[in-house]
Amino acid sequence: MKLEYISKSEYCRRYMRYLGAAKTARRSYFESLKLLESKGFKEISSFKTLKPGDKVYRGYGDRTIMAAVIGKKKISESGIKIVGGHTDAPRLDLKPRPLYEKGGYVYFDCHIYGGIKKYQWLTLPLALYGTIVRKDGSKVDVAIGDGSDDPVFMISDILPHLGKDQEKKKVNEFFPAEDLDVVCWTSGEKPLEALKAYLKKKYKVSEEDLLSAELEIVPAGMPRYVGLDESLIAGYGHDDRVCSFAALTALLDAAQKTPEVTASMLMCDKEEVGSMGATGMQSSFFENTVAEFIERQEKNPRDIMVRRALEKSSMLSADVTAIADPHFPDVDSTGNSARFHKGPCASKYTGGASKGGASDCSPEFVAKIRKIMDDGGVVWQMAELGKMEKGGGGTISQYMARFGMDVLDMGTGLWNMHAPWELASAFDCHETYKAYSAYLRS
Ligand code: MN
Ligand code: MN
Repeated sequence: MKLEYISKSEYCRRYMRYLGAAKTARRSYFESLKLLESKGFKEISSFKTLKPGDKVYRGYGDRTIMAAVIGKKKISESGIKIVGGHTDAPRLDLKPRPLYEKGGYVYFDCHIYGGIKKYQWLTLPLALYGTIVRKDGSKVDVAIGDGSDDPVFMISDILPHLGKDQEKKKVNEFFPAEDLDVVCWTSGEKPLEALKAYLKKKYKVSEEDLLSAELEIVPAGMPRYVGLDESLIAGYGHDDRVCSFAALTALLDAAQKTPEVTASMLMCDKEEVGSMGATGMQSSFFENTVAEFIERQEKNPRDIMVRRALEKSSMLSADVTAIADPHFPDVDSTGNSARFHKGPCASKYTGGASKGGASDCSPEFVAKIRKIMDDGGVVWQMAELGKMEKGGGGTISQYMARFGMDVLDMGTGLWNMHAPWELASAFDCHETYKAYSAYLRS
């Protein structure tokens, strides 16, 4: 049976809109919920039982989400098909006491989140997003920098005329992390007092309220096509919203017809800092969610059913990889590097040199995926992240593979990974969605 897909132009339009709106894990979460609910998905507590065709989701901590369309076969017997990615992205977080004055100007004191190259964040228009929680539990949502009349923020750099000493330093040393601070108020005799008064008036929050806030500095601006052929997309947070949005869209395809095996998508947080914490993939969220599903499918649910379901499940770990850049041939793994416009990239293993920390997929599962991709008319490629001994990277695949399930890394390739503006191929974005859609419908 020939699979139908959303067209490339329509898919990219939807993805770019999502990417522009979902600049934090929390905003990705709410954008995704909106989409799921508009397609008939319901929160798990509203189901007493789960039957084939039911569209269900479970969220946690306003950041992590698993959504599924229940298959004809029981989860305890056939497991679940999963496409899972993450929605957090490298950025600068405001410190708990973020306000300080230096030389008569006020700055936000920032802490790095995830692996960034510090110099890339200088002299760029930046936006501020997040949530401030007052002592009484009331919340203030902050979004400054992407509205058409909004101001933006910036980290300043020294002018080249006076940069003689700076340019002699190593690239990771010339700008200390502690100086990655954003200028936010420069006028008046008492700028810090003026800013506090502004926060009180505009947001009804005190400086103390910032102790219980989660405020994030991200690049300001919307995703754009790049090049006269408009075949690349520049966006903040392609890693990993390019894959997690593709997973979400693929699940909506799968939900149009009751699948044999339950099909699901997983979006998690904190991948860029090691998948720790209650909303990271090392938490019990995924197992707990499978247990919640099984409890609603079985007359006598038992813990062993959850273990069996996990072992029988399989997954495409939906995360980005590197596209070979002709300007940096030193890091390319000759003949094993990914290229633009050749579809999503499967990586049989992640990790570094000597496969340290690798999640290495079985050839049996790779063969199954090859067949699904070819039957589904998906253009895809196989590659590794780069040359041995030049570095390496991991994804959430290792945390899922430990349950005994088959996991293959497969996602969109990027230039500028972890830079404020990452580049992906529009063709690859669309084929990534097609790959996940074909897998969930297989
Ligand atoms: Mn990633
Ligand atoms: Mn990353």
